[in-house]
Amino acid sequence: MQTDPSSPVEPSSPVEPSSSVELVETPPAMSGRFTVRNPHGLHARPAARLVQEVRRLAADVELVNLTTGAGPEPGSSMIRVAVLGAAQGHEVEVRARTQEAVDAVVALAERGFDESFETPHEPAADQEPATSAGGPRGASPGVVLGPARRLVSAPLEVSEAGGTPEEESGRLDVALAAARGEVEATHRALRQTPEAEIFEAHLALLDDDSLLGRARALVAEGRSAAAAWTDAVAEVHDEWAALDDPYLRERAADVDAVGEQVLRSITGVAPAAMPAAGVLLADDLTPAEAAALDLDLVQGVVLAAGSPTSHAAILARARDVPLVVGAGDLARTAPDGATVALDGSTGEVHVDPSDEVRRDFERRAEAEREQRRTALDAAQRPAATTDGVTVVVGANLGSVADAELARASGADKAGLVRTELLFLGRDDAPGEDEQATTYAAVAAALDRRVTLRTLDVGGDKPLPYVAAPAEDNPFLGVRGVRLSLRHPDLLRTQLAAMARVADDADVEVMVPMVAVPAEMDAVRALLPEGSSLRLGMMVEVPSAALKLPALAAHVDFVSIGTNDLTQYAVAAERGNPGVAELGDPLDPGVLQLVERVVAAGLPTGVCGEAAADPAGVPLLLGLGVRELSVAPPAVPRVKALVRTLDTASCAALAREALTLPDAAAVRRLVAGS
Ligand code: PEP
Ligand code: MG
Repeated sequence: MQTDPSSPVEPSSPVEPSSSVELVETPPAMSGRFTVRNPHGLHARPAARLVQEVRRLAADVELVNLTTGAGPEPGSSMIRVAVLGAAQGHEVEVRARTQEAVDAVVALAERGFDESFETPHEPAADQEPATSAGGPRGASPGVVLGPARRLVSAPLEVSEAGGTPEEESGRLDVALAAARGEVEATHRALRQTPEAEIFEAHLALLDDDSLLGRARALVAEGRSAAAAWTDAVAEVHDEWAALDDPYLRERAADVDAVGEQVLRSITGVAPAAMPAAGVLLADDLTPAEAAALDLDLVQGVVLAAGSPTSHAAILARARDVPLVVGAGDLARTAPDGATVALDGSTGEVHVDPSDEVRRDFERRAEAEREQRRTALDAAQRPAATTDGVTVVVGANLGSVADAELARASGADKAGLVRTELLFLGRDDAPGEDEQATTYAAVAAALDRRVTLRTLDVGGDKPLPYVAAPAEDNPFLGVRGVRLSLRHPDLLRTQLAAMARVADDADVEVMVPMVAVPAEMDAVRALLPEGSSLRLGMMVEVPSAALKLPALAAHVDFVSIGTNDLTQYAVAAERGNPGVAELGDPLDPGVLQLVERVVAAGLPTGVCGEAAADPAGVPLLLGLGVRELSVAPPAVPRVKALVRTLDTASCAALAREALTLPDAAAVRRLVAGS
């Protein structure tokens, strides 16, 4: 690899860019070269990493594939970078306004775009899918016997009929935001696993200038959001599918997966689902399909393809669904309804098993159920540290199904109910009755204390029925309580619904993004007359964390939202993989904010991702936090962890962590403790 600082770039290139993304008018003056090291070339994931770096550099970076002559393409669009078709061994020229930017991109290329080559997660396109070659393999433990089922999906019909360009543009934005939210949630769940990279690529696609620009241009021409999005996705798909390199070609599947996710959101058509309870047989599952599986119906999964490290496998383990991969024709040919016996530890699968095999599997399944019962029984009991300090472990919920799962998982309460899920993806706001019914159903399903959060949307999560100005920095704009207070009718209705539920259930209310006491007072003033609802605030704004004593008289309790608190404290946008390393809630600066919040003496919980992080739990306990709220499936694990800790050692650990320079050092400290 070499850089070539002195050679100015030729003013014009023989190959015109084929994208709608504008290149800079004056060609960048500096250039350098690198040879692609990555075994699968500059495919979606390394391209996503490159794009993050290019955006950070803000130096009009362009790339040319010198081996094929493709380009120049803007380095700020993952899609355009992938279209370069840069395979392993290809030579690529980097052009930029500054030498620093050229050097940074070349250095990134030398690091293989931070991709770990040792653990390829997917078979190359020119390999046989992992089916009978390696034979069936267990990918998520559990023994099940059940009828064979396959996913059925309502067809996605793309209608040209739509509203005005403004309405359709709003519809597209809402669908993109919803898809982004779903992908972010999956990405968070897989944080620190290699599979997280897939979702980083999907997030990059959902934010790609070239794809979004094309879809928006078509909407502006009068196309419906669904039609514009479909066409824009198809154009990218076709370009990727026409690439020479088979692996890069295969990545068109990522475009399709993201395209379908957004289209389902636009059209309101639910993802493919199981028709009835049983064992799901499929060729493979997309990340979205795996994430959307209905746990009430899916007893187990058998995939013809896939690998134990595929995204489907990781999600299956996270969701505790028994899974066998690589079952080949067995999964393809088993008739619907036939009895399937599977063992997700050993990889055994039988279709229509003999009586003897059936009895053996029934015995194994019963033994395993017993084991699970013991584990879940333990989770049903309160968790205390080895020195006898009780720690409340609640669950974060978005739906009644979550509440049911949380109850089965032993959650002590719902520390956070994200009510916005009821407001997103629709054309008008839910009324008081609808809200009250939903909140009551959540409270009834959990049957424990429920902390309902008022609407947390705005900026990055727009609602078509709430007028909001376009903002350059939506995360710093009118979101959370700021938006709610600008629409007092919306908030009044929501508070009225919550107060109604509080008549029959143990309900309290929490307000997101509070920065000043006046916001809490304004919310309290909108409560129905005579209501005695407990009103708490989320601590997500660093200044609020620091001045909590001045806010204390205005709130009944606090819950620290470490996801947002971290993004504001370290200035690293959440969900932006380019700064994910910085945006770590275990940064000592964030931990110092938590310490200050605890010191204010209010009832304090933590409901951000840090509460479920195995390294975060001892630190939070050490800082004095005694209430955590986590995703429902994480409750048993967090309770089990709490039972191994003692508060004195945690306090000593936290004291040391507070003195360290960065999150990586904190993680090393905890790992060595
Ligand atoms: C947080 O910010 O930590 C939080 C729990 O809220 P959300 O993730 O819904 O923004
Ligand atoms: Mg938040």
